Amino acid sequence: MTRRIVPKLSKEEYEKNFSDVKPPLSKDAALLEANRCLYCYDAPCIEACPTHIDIPSFIKKIATNNLKGSARVIMESNIMGGTCARVCPVEILCEGACVYNNIKEAKPIDIGRLQRYATDYIFENNIQLFKREKDNGKKVAVIGAGPAGLSCAHKLSMLGYQVTVYEKKDKAGGLNLYGLAAYKITNEFVEKEIEYITSIGGIEIKYNQEVGKNVDIQDLLNSYDAVFIGIGLGKTPKLNIPGEELEGVYDAIQFIENLRINPLEKVSIGEVVAVIGAGNTAIDAATQAKRLGAKKVYIIYRRTQNEMPANIYEYNLALKDECEFLWLTNPTKIIGDTFVEAIECIRMELGEPDSSGRRMPIPIKNSEFLLKVDTVIKALGQISYTNFLTKIQGLELDKGRIKVNPETMQTSIPKLFAGGDCINGGKETVNAVQDGKLAALGIHKMIFS
Ligand SMILES: Cc1cc2nc3c(=O)[nH]c(=O)nc-3n(C[C@H](O)[C@H](O)[C@H](O)COP(=O)(O)OP(=O)(O)OC[C@H]3O[C@@H](n4cnc5c(N)ncnc54)[C@H](O)[C@@H]3O)c2cc1C
Repeated sequence: MTRRIVPKLSKEEYEKNFSDVKPPLSKDAALLEANRCLYCYDAPCIEACPTHIDIPSFIKKIATNNLKGSARVIMESNIMGGTCARVCPVEILCEGACVYNNIKEAKPIDIGRLQRYATDYIFENNIQLFKREKDNGKKVAVIGAGPAGLSCAHKLSMLGYQVTVYEKKDKAGGLNLYGLAAYKITNEFVEKEIEYITSIGGIEIKYNQEVGKNVDIQDLLNSYDAVFIGIGLGKTPKLNIPGEELEGVYDAIQFIENLRINPLEKVSIGEVVAVIGAGNTAIDAATQAKRLGAKKVYIIYRRTQNEMPANIYEYNLALKDECEFLWLTNPTKIIGDTFVEAIECIRMELGEPDSSGRRMPIPIKNSEFLLKVDTVIKALGQISYTNFLTKIQGLELDKGRIKVNPETMQTSIPKLFAGGDCINGGKETVNAVQDGKLAALGIHKMIFS
């Protein structure tokens, strides 16, 4: 028996299937949309944005064609305003809070795409909005060059610190480069944004440096004035069912990473795909499998749509891509000799609420059934780097997450600060950016007050 793999996409097919889901606004469309904004006093959209961008103010500046001023308003609060404009779940953040939602037949302001319109102008015209303060003689180590680490590094550098970023991979960006769906953001944009962030000076990124492996965190704590951890999360947990080692079973994070690094070469996808889990990562894996050419994609989840962790925008994307949800279904076995040929599942029903407050799924006896599939993608969330974190003496964790003071991002070790997915268990890019910014201010306060 041979594996049923779909043919690899040509460059043209890839560009078509993975084209921008939220394309940029034209000048006319941006002006029209900006002039629709009511510029509310006490605007709810500002509160709903985790980085508290003054949204009415940046939109007003678009309306008066002051794009530089508009981008400054955005990026002073959120240095990754360009990325967030593309990838934020705006429907549940700023746009979800827009007062137009309360007006029948009106639609909320397209805040995300207006934000992109203003920030793109800065990148396209190579305008540096920020200037570093005079060197203050202090130095900080940042562990991880993802959104949290880069945001922290930028703010610290602005305040006059010398920042050294230790990154275990050979490129910066974290999940911006390795995790976000390719139809939301391009590698080219991620690289441009990182270049923008580091070009203010005072930031050195050391690549292929894994703290805990080739760099000792204790050495960093001894030789720097402060250390920030923004290491994110690791792989998806194992399913712990037979057949998991078969060819054609992927970790969603690895699958998406391969796709982002080398979409036309590294990723082979079966004709029928089963994605296990129903969080945002599962949806990203499923929609991208479909766009790679899979004929059928199942999203298998042991609870119902009511308990599904994915947000409504991602859920609708999956429906639009014709992925099929199998609710109240749990995999029990992956079947095949060397590669995946089928997956055995069992039907579930919901019992009493468990410790998470959600009703517990219980298998229904003798309800097993087989699905013929060629690829299985495991997307059960990500586990924290507990092996590394538990070895840091004096560092308090809560369920594998680093415990911090939410105002300063200081951990139980006074010189050590943390932010991003490693403290919140996996939220959005915008949360990581805000944490990095708060940590930089927390470090500044600790050192200079
Ligand atoms: C598949 C997927 C899709 C997503 N889609 C969206 C989306 O559409 N919109 C959205 O807003 N959010 C999305 N997110 C969430 C978002 O990507 C994260 O919240 C955000 O990237 C977290 O930033 P971070 O800096 O904390 O961690 P990361 O982005 O994970 O960055 C951590 C960095 O630390 C490095 N590192 C790790 N360990 C070490 C070490 N020991 N030493 C040195 N370096 C180390 C890593 O290589 C990495 O570069 C998605 C997440 C996933 C997994």
